[in-house]
Amino acid sequence: MIEKMKPKLVVFDFNRTIYDPEKGRVIEGAINVLEKLLPKFPMVLYCKTGDGRGEKIKELGIEKYFKRMVFVEKKSPRDLLKLAKEFNIGPGEILVIGDRVRSEIAAAKQAGCKTIWFRQGKFAGEEPAKKEEEPDQTIIQLKDLLSKTGKAATSAKL
Ligand SMILES: [Mg+2]
Repeated sequence: MIEKMKPKLVVFDFNRTIYDPEKGRVIEGAINVLEKLLPKFPMVLYCKTGDGRGEKIKELGIEKYFKRMVFVEKKSPRDLLKLAKEFNIGPGEILVIGDRVRSEIAAAKQAGCKTIWFRQGKFAGEEPAKKEEEPDQTIIQLKDLLSKTGKAATSAKL
């Protein structure tokens, strides 16, 4: 799916996209996906501040996958426009993957980025309420990011 979307930068939300705070470990399939994407795309970790998340990221040993880590109090289109500038690309060449349509997906859409909603966990039922919260693609398993067809192998309808 990611390859079909041809991004120049892939931005992953941290909490509930890479990391499961309820289980206290990485989400199933996350490390495999990061390993496979590492040689192909520069990646950025996009994370809210607080809850000792910085230390958690170190503990998990996932820093090595990311060119940059961005910590913010609230996700905003500005963060993504800044990244576009920093990487010298257009916002439309950034792909943002996250579990919340009303947070990172909305910020990404407003900035003009491509988006994939990882619809699982606590916010799986939090549906888009407006146009700018509607993701380009929806997945329910991280491994679908690697699918060559551009479609999720599993149905995104819950
Ligand atoms: Mg999240």
